Amino acid sequence: MNIILLGPPGAGKGTQAQILVDRRNMIQLSTGDMLREAKDSGTEMGRIVADVMARGDLVTDEIVIGLIREKLLGDKAGGFIFDGFPRTLAQADALAELLDENGETLDAVIEMQVDDETLVKRIVGRAADAAAAGQPVRADDNEESVRHRLMEYYKKTAPLIGYYHAKGQLKSLDGLGEIDAVAAAIAAALDG
Ligand code: ADP
Repeated sequence: MNIILLGPPGAGKGTQAQILVDRRNMIQLSTGDMLREAKDSGTEMGRIVADVMARGDLVTDEIVIGLIREKLLGDKAGGFIFDGFPRTLAQADALAELLDENGETLDAVIEMQVDDETLVKRIVGRAADAAAAGQPVRADDNEESVRHRLMEYYKKTAPLIGYYHAKGQLKSLDGLGEIDAVAAAIAAALDG
């Protein structure tokens, strides 16, 4: 089964993806994680994307589609979880083509709904907790970048909700509850 986790920054996509990895042996493909790895490894691509990410802007479609293309050739295990990808309609079209080329299908798109103020609080709180514990803080986890990431989400990514709804693949759920409750809602959406 291949699925997309769709939702604004801070909705909990990464947390839920990890649960699906553990329980269903799925493979999490997080473009955010891949881009941060590229940044930390000091590659040419990493240098190009670092400032873009810190501002909360989207990286070019070409770069993220390239990252995903490579991963689809690897181990499929219990299926792919696309986390933070696609984020634009062009990326959604590219994903459909890539899946098709690899003989794969997209089985569901899970939209996690969380209100804006909760998102800002979660992300800014996560950064404060990390700093207090001496952990690294993401360069884009400050209020200004978060508000910008939210605006990018509404302008460029939220149109995907209508797109996947029209294709009959969208399952929307409340992402506000406890982690286990959200995980149960996702399981019901996938198995129901
Ligand atoms: P969040 O969902 O919390 O914003 P991510 O880790 O998914 O965090 O993404 C962090 C940043 O990485 C984004 O703000 C953007 O700059 C970049 N990014 C990640 N995925 C994509 C994508 N599919 N397209 C363009 N940019 C992306």
